[in-house]
Amino acid sequence: MELNRREFLKASGAGVGGIFLLGALNPDIALARTVNIPPLKRKVTETTTICCYCAVGCGAVVATYEDGAIKIEGDPDHPINEGTLCSKGQALPQFHTVDGEDNPNRLTKPLYRAAGGTTWQEVEWDWALDTIAQRVKKTRDDNWLSTINVGGTNYPVNRTDAIANFGGGELDNEECYLLVKMARALGLVYIEHCARI
Ligand code: SF4
Repeated sequence: MELNRREFLKASGAGVGGIFLLGALNPDIALARTVNIPPLKRKVTETTTICCYCAVGCGAVVATYEDGAIKIEGDPDHPINEGTLCSKGQALPQFHTVDGEDNPNRLTKPLYRAAGGTTWQEVEWDWALDTIAQRVKKTRDDNWLSTINVGGTNYPVNRTDAIANFGGGELDNEECYLLVKMARALGLVYIEHCARI
């Protein structure tokens, strides 16, 4: 059968109108239904962190379940270690558990040993931080050296020789930066690190 242009448009319009009409009468034919999916409850969460054992600063991913870390592995997206961890880094889970049990050696409070004392006692963080700040200030004030005399001439030095700062291998680059800034600002000159001793 041959159709001219007008007959073709009339036939097409009737067809399209029929489809719309069908859709209006029975929308399930043409329209996708909206389904409400409840949000998934994730019990295991992953958090990125930095290994604290040395200043390399490798990235790690910590998987936690409820209130505990169940797995720690190298972060494959971290530019420094690209997923690898050295033997110390692989021991990171022991911060929390050993052989599936809470690590009995994990410290949750600062320990304090008085000058001349032989035993350690648990103290509160507030007490420890206040005491450190008070003793640093007193020691610095009592032992401040503004000048030294060399060959009869006084030279300004503005320092204290009474306090030393001893860094640890577990400090990362950012912590070391801030710690040395603070030590220099306090006028310390004895600034050392365990790796150099
Ligand atoms: S201790 Fe090992 S894993 Fe941790 S930051 Fe240093 S090199 Fe990386």
